[in-house]
Amino acid sequence: MEDQLLQPPRGMIDWTPDKYYMLLNIASRFARVAESYGYRAIETPAVENFEVLKAKAGEDVVNEIYYFRDKAGRELGLRFDMTVPVARVLSYRRDFPRPVRLYYISKVWRYDEPQFGRFREFHQFGVEHVGSSSIMSDAEVLALSVRALETVGLSEFEVKVSDRRIMDHVLGKLGISSNRAQVLRILDKRGKVPDDELTRMLTELGVDKKSAELLIGMVNESMPFDKAPGFLSEMGVDQGLVKYIEDLANAVSQYGILNRVVMDLGIVRGLDYYTGFVFELYTSKIKLAVGGGGRYDELLKIYSGEDIPAVGFAIGIERVMLAMGEGQDMQPKIDYYIYPFSGLEGAAIRLAESLRASGFRVIVDVNKPSLRSALEYASKIGVRKFIIIGKRELEKGVVRVRDLETWSEEDVDVNRLAKL
Ligand code: AMP
Repeated sequence: MEDQLLQPPRGMIDWTPDKYYMLLNIASRFARVAESYGYRAIETPAVENFEVLKAKAGEDVVNEIYYFRDKAGRELGLRFDMTVPVARVLSYRRDFPRPVRLYYISKVWRYDEPQFGRFREFHQFGVEHVGSSSIMSDAEVLALSVRALETVGLSEFEVKVSDRRIMDHVLGKLGISSNRAQVLRILDKRGKVPDDELTRMLTELGVDKKSAELLIGMVNESMPFDKAPGFLSEMGVDQGLVKYIEDLANAVSQYGILNRVVMDLGIVRGLDYYTGFVFELYTSKIKLAVGGGGRYDELLKIYSGEDIPAVGFAIGIERVMLAMGEGQDMQPKIDYYIYPFSGLEGAAIRLAESLRASGFRVIVDVNKPSLRSALEYASKIGVRKFIIIGKRELEKGVVRVRDLETWSEEDVDVNRLAKL
């Protein structure tokens, strides 16, 4: 078969054990943080009815959906995030006491142009906090995202916060009403596309040049979060919204993370479903966001017909791995490799099973190579201790144990092995 065909599909990764354990390790740390805030795990099918996905994807994302028909002709698609499937689930599981706190570690798919940090299949860790419009929920979710990055050892990162309503206010003032979603999507490209190109795209949409420049100036505005209320007041933003930002800053400072948070009016978020506060997480290590989220009070209505406020975020695990630098091989060590001499296989199996029952990772040699090549193989695959079962030793109730880390060797009583 052609070499090309033997590689995973474009934009996708084979998670061989040398890489996969790092991902599993990160995922389990994230899970522990989410659970420490009382969130519980959820999973849904990878495949959704296309209608469900389309309803809230937004123009750019619809084009990125992996779409297909099944054999019965149903239109299906791979989920592009977990917020939409979770919203779907909650539309019929109305028995869950609210607010519902859920977290997930799931694969999602987007048919995007692959490049550094951008894959077609990737993993997201995220939370959904559904059924509360309280500022306390916003602050809780923000804090959880910060603790998640800290728990995997990232220390240099920043939370950039904004609010869709600020942009609404400004767009309203500029008389831009019909094509707001498109304007937002263009502004979301700030940093990826040069400013004059953004101006061109906006004017093409019918925004006059002066307004376009004002908008671009605005999305380049960034300041410490506690300075934001004063700035927004001066901008003439609604007092209710200024008060909200002030309260959010206060709640965030109770979590002790105010120093990580900045107000950045350029955080627009590509997905259409956000209605209020939005945020993205940036580390000093890579340019791309490692996570993002915000409030989406209208998403659940599409599926359930009921107004249900919600807030959440998602962190891209592959991006976190890139930010952590060199991939670390976190494969678990094998505690024991048992090498029986001929005729002693039964004893080897019995010993292995009892060690396994005590929680050890144990391999019994199956190939009968020479002792030397078995030792070589065992040290290559990361074994701690190599056990040789010989007839003479066994009669004395001992086995020979070689420590492959120190290369020391001793005879050990079989009954004492589990305690080594
Ligand atoms: P989004 O809601 O689109 O901002 O996605 C949330 C997070 O998922 C982002 O901050 C990234 O960390 C991650 N992410 C989004 N798209 C990709 C992609 N194509 N490849 C890898 N990670 C991604």
